[in-house]
Amino acid sequence: MSEKANIGVVGLAVMGSNLARNLASRAGNRVAIYNRSADKTQLLTKEHPEANFLASETIDDFVANLTKPRTAIIMVQAGAGTDAVIEQLAERFEPGDIIVDGGNALYTDTMRREKEVSAKGIHFVGAGISGGEEGALKGPSIMPGGTKEAYKTLGPILESIAAVVAGEPCVTHIGSDGAGHFVKMIHNGIEYADMQLIAESYDLLRQSGGFSPKEIADIFTEWNKGELESYLIEITAEVLKQTDAKTGKPFVDIVVDAAGSKGTGVWTVQTSLNLGVPVSGIAEAVFARSLSSQTEQRQGKPELPAQNQTWNITDKELFVESVRKALYASKIIAYAQGFDAIRAGAKEFGWEINLGEVAKIWRGGCIIRAQFLNRITDAYRSKPNLLSLLFDDYFLKAIDDSVAAWREVVAMAALTGIPAPAFASSLSYYDGLRAERLPAALVQGQRDFFGAHTYKRVDQPGTFHTRWSQDRSEVQTD
Ligand code: NAP
Repeated sequence: MSEKANIGVVGLAVMGSNLARNLASRAGNRVAIYNRSADKTQLLTKEHPEANFLASETIDDFVANLTKPRTAIIMVQAGAGTDAVIEQLAERFEPGDIIVDGGNALYTDTMRREKEVSAKGIHFVGAGISGGEEGALKGPSIMPGGTKEAYKTLGPILESIAAVVAGEPCVTHIGSDGAGHFVKMIHNGIEYADMQLIAESYDLLRQSGGFSPKEIADIFTEWNKGELESYLIEITAEVLKQTDAKTGKPFVDIVVDAAGSKGTGVWTVQTSLNLGVPVSGIAEAVFARSLSSQTEQRQGKPELPAQNQTWNITDKELFVESVRKALYASKIIAYAQGFDAIRAGAKEFGWEINLGEVAKIWRGGCIIRAQFLNRITDAYRSKPNLLSLLFDDYFLKAIDDSVAAWREVVAMAALTGIPAPAFASSLSYYDGLRAERLPAALVQGQRDFFGAHTYKRVDQPGTFHTRWSQDRSEVQTD
């Protein structure tokens, strides 16, 4: 093996150090490592003498330690930190070298950076990396963008460290410039929805069903053996099983009920609003976290009238099964909406994204990994131009099996006064999609009335306006 390293990692906090260890553990890799504060580099080298690291004290050493074409993965704080490191590397790299940003960058930043860096002949790859610190160490799901040419060098390295499902690595070239970070952003949006739907299921089981957290953990463990099998269901059971050592209470009862976020859910919703894609389930999940964190309003509220009813559950098994079905149907909606957003983004930005491949690389390593993703891969493999996941035979049947229970759960949540915003909005989205006629016709009438915004007729082509304030006659405007 040459003295130099075939790959480098800049930024050795939690993610970078684990990714560097993962890279170093794969045969044939020698990993140059560098961190702005030298103590992190020294610590990592000291704690892992087994790793084939080439520690670098300065950015110049780091660059000199890499074989050509030089390939460096940046794992530093998103935003200004990432820009600073890109600038340092771009000043020292040569045409044909590759800079990879593995942080959680906004895809528009990645598009901007790609433009700036590629102007120097250097490849820039924005790569979404999912799976948290354990994924980075043992095998994440990786969503790289950038050029196909860069992927030729980078691909085999990423494939060597990614999670593997059924013999296939959870990484694929997503598309050019910001495509990888765009897909990672939507992945996180779906993650928000998935988590919120599981939380709403828990709330209904506890408040209406009267089950204890431990009993609900058992229910989730059972669900994890079927079509809901997923990492998030599995870890939810673990969290619900936990008892607080200090008080002996269920852990979930000692945690303040205000959910935090780091912004990728908000990005997903903002982007989808701009693209005109109704990701309503994902948006409700983001809003639910916002509402939970409005501690001032929640604490200072007057007695808000409830006038709710009680849910008389005569058959507990049936009730649990209804909640499971509502969860599964709503989860299908979240994924359908997420994949719609990816398709719309691909169209807007000219990316050739293979949706089946995206589902395939999410089967392992990432937070939303689930059995269910095999079905999504199959759906897009058999019909690459599928307009909505909901139109695939498997998902149609799944919704058909669940929709009656789903309606009952949403209605009962409303009647009993238990908030289930993601369940409810997912069902409304579904009913909106299947409606023969929507009241949007009336909205068009209102818009024409106050703003002369015009409308289309159902019975002839053209655009029309009614002279509402005059004789109410109709004119064709084009
Ligand atoms: P982080 O806390 O986001 O960032 C800390 C690292 O950034 C340190 O190595 C720090 O160097 C470096 N840094 C900050 N500003 C810098 C600058 N101006 N110049 C050079 N270096 C700078 O670290 P992290 O949690 O390991 O995450 C790294 C990236 O992965 C982030 O973009 C994050 O969003 C993304 N990510 C994180 C997770 C996760 O689960 N944590 C999951 C997926 C993706 P010093 O030591 O010198 O301060």
